[in-house]
Amino acid sequence: MTDTTPTAFAALGLADVLLHAVADLGFTEPTPVQAQTIPLALPRDDGWQDLMVSSQTGSGKTASFLLPVLHTLWSHRLARLAAENAEWEARVAEAAAAGTEPPKRPRRKDPTNPRNFKAAVPGAMVLCPTRELAQQVAQDAIDLVRHCKGLRVAHIVGGMPYAVQIARLQNADLVVATPGRLLDLQRSRQIDLSQVQTLVLDEADRMLDLGFADDLAEIHNLTESRVQTLMYSATFAPRVQQLAQRLMRAPHRVQLDSPQERHDNIRQILHWADSRSHKRQLLDHWLRDPKIDQAIVFASTQIECDELANDLQQVGFSAVALHGALSQGLRNRRLQALRQGRVQFLVATDVAARGIDVPTISHVFNFGLPLKAEDYTHRIGRTGRAGRDGLAITMAEFRDKRKIFDIEAFTRQPMPVEVIPGLEPQGRLERSQPAGKPGRGRRPEGKDWRKPSSHGKPHGAGKPRGAGQGGHAQGDKPAFGKPHGGGGSGKFHAAGKPAHGAGNAHGAHPSPRKPAPSRGGPRQVHRAK
Ligand code: AMP
Repeated sequence: MTDTTPTAFAALGLADVLLHAVADLGFTEPTPVQAQTIPLALPRDDGWQDLMVSSQTGSGKTASFLLPVLHTLWSHRLARLAAENAEWEARVAEAAAAGTEPPKRPRRKDPTNPRNFKAAVPGAMVLCPTRELAQQVAQDAIDLVRHCKGLRVAHIVGGMPYAVQIARLQNADLVVATPGRLLDLQRSRQIDLSQVQTLVLDEADRMLDLGFADDLAEIHNLTESRVQTLMYSATFAPRVQQLAQRLMRAPHRVQLDSPQERHDNIRQILHWADSRSHKRQLLDHWLRDPKIDQAIVFASTQIECDELANDLQQVGFSAVALHGALSQGLRNRRLQALRQGRVQFLVATDVAARGIDVPTISHVFNFGLPLKAEDYTHRIGRTGRAGRDGLAITMAEFRDKRKIFDIEAFTRQPMPVEVIPGLEPQGRLERSQPAGKPGRGRRPEGKDWRKPSSHGKPHGAGKPRGAGQGGHAQGDKPAFGKPHGGGGSGKFHAAGKPAHGAGNAHGAHPSPRKPAPSRGGPRQVHRAK
């Protein structure tokens, strides 16, 4: 944090009504991305600055663009109201001078009556790659405009009935949308983009991934008279830079390398596995950890997502699937169940999990690896939110080593390898890494930097699973269904469940080979809300 005084937000130059909302939300000081971006994004004497911000999810990036955008919309609203009032007073004075009847104020038309519907003419627009993210951003905006009387926020996303969207759009000052649905509404003349002054592209890299490049070009043309463009992206990859060149004028770059940006509050763990079923055993072990409040389990595909959620339900876990092939209504209901703590585990694909902001997500599991290294960063950012700590556990088969190296190269952080006693991999990592490549070449000469952390103990690779660590004697496979009591470091956690706090490797865990929860009694989640 750049400034720890309670007035740190006020020093950024934001309107009082927004400072009031920020205080209501309990934000005492701006996050680094907010401290850097907000002053640059606010209007200045010499005009407006376009910004290209590389910032991770969980860093407070949403408020970093919403606050200046809402500040500008609010200033415009106040100026418009003042002008209308001045005009009105002039007309009243004119009537008085002429000795005629004072004019009557025109009656406001009922905006909820469909007969009065007219095309929305927003002053600002936020584009998001997914419905979930758009909903989340719109919700954050609604929280921030609570004291801005008359300022309206609307979000439009695919899957919502047309009539509902049109009703919501009425008099909207800020519209948050996914590109496809926005263009649908623009083509049917329900929205007029000509007055958009600020255009925000959130998660621009993801919008390109999802094939929105043409839609973005069209929206760029439709909002050509805008004065400002703010683009947020996890990376400044060449394709993102090309997009910026097309859409922006001399953008100022904001690139952060703060602890939050590096996800320092999220402990990352890697488990090597021999096979998919070995990964399932590792996952089953972890999901019984009593320290889990709620978790997201990532799958690689929609099919894997459904299968895994079903499997978990079958063994009694409180789990639901979330992916792009589900209807929007079902996605909303499942997300709501997660937010309200009625579901403990969300099994999700990358796209569906974008934008999920649930502070009680204590763990993220990468069961299926992400297709792209940068998705890893987005995934783990679902935990460790709102100043909390999080744990991100990745399960990878040895054949996935290239993907793991790519992730490490991208995050510029090695993923510490850990083993669970009784679930050690039998295979071992072949060290076929070419030297000198990023993420790979960082390996210190002569040192196996990929050795798992297990407090100086040898790790289980190369040994039969269930042997040699955590107190299991050679060949002493713990009996499934009973905690393994066999000597050494096989200490028991109070509940016979894994204890992964305080940087412990799993060497201190009890045997994971415990019975599955009964089918009739899925794990209850209790959460105060
Ligand atoms: P984001 O990176 O926008 O997804 O935000 C991550 C989380 O941080 C959200 O739950 C926000 O409500 C929260 N947040 C944003 N700004 C602040 C702040 N200045 N202080 C504390 N929490 C914040």
